[in-house]
Amino acid sequence: MTRPPALIFSDLDGTLLDHDSYDWAPARVMLARLARAGIPVVLASSKTAAEMVPLRAAMGLGTVPMICENGAGVVGDAVPDDDGLTDYDQLRATLGRIDRALRGRFEGFGDMDPARISAVTGLPEPDARLAAQRRFSEPGLWHGAAAEQEAFVAALRAMGIAARMGGRFLTLSFGGTKADRMASIAARYGTPPTIALGDAPNDLEMLQSADFGILVANPHSPPIPPLPGEDTGRIRRTSRPGPAGWTEGLTGLLSDLGIDDSHDL
Ligand SMILES: [Mg+2]
Repeated sequence: MTRPPALIFSDLDGTLLDHDSYDWAPARVMLARLARAGIPVVLASSKTAAEMVPLRAAMGLGTVPMICENGAGVVGDAVPDDDGLTDYDQLRATLGRIDRALRGRFEGFGDMDPARISAVTGLPEPDARLAAQRRFSEPGLWHGAAAEQEAFVAALRAMGIAARMGGRFLTLSFGGTKADRMASIAARYGTPPTIALGDAPNDLEMLQSADFGILVANPHSPPIPPLPGEDTGRIRRTSRPGPAGWTEGLTGLLSDLGIDDSHDL
């Protein structure tokens, strides 16, 4: 495979997808430009592969790898069929060995039906069914005291499972972040210059791990303080949110890097 001029890693919600409508139309022209320039776009999201595969196809991204379930796993060409024992199967099995009182305080997606997942996530039920098709991690609600949660997390840690609190969900996995997955994917492409885009604190590690980071404006959360690299332009911010900001940030950066300047848009 020839080394592309750059490799892009992009968050979805609030970054390439509009925060409210999930629309990505304002990024359509830039996505076409990147395809012409041979620049792969690796989607990196908390979503499952089942949720991400239709988006990747609609965006015309081909069969680039995707970083799924917040970095708990990487998926290649297709949604894998779960013939072997997945990380998810092992997570669920391990939960069965936790002290029953503690275990009872954790309501994982695997303990919920699609209607319940829809209620706790706000996703329409068809989307909730896709979100339930997990392979690498188990998000859930904690229904107990903080001290019990600490005991639960410690018991999981002793069995090799990491637990991360983010937003409303306590998510269990065997570790790995979006940033952890970048180097191995870049290596598959011959380690080209990397560009990462995200809109939230949980994307900052990815932005810092890339050669260039674009922080897409997020009017829905508290401002992110100045970041290392902003003074030099290695990290930049957009003025517009969502896919319009995504396009704005890449337009400026690709121009500064002299990538694909010759193409008339
Ligand atoms: Mg986001």
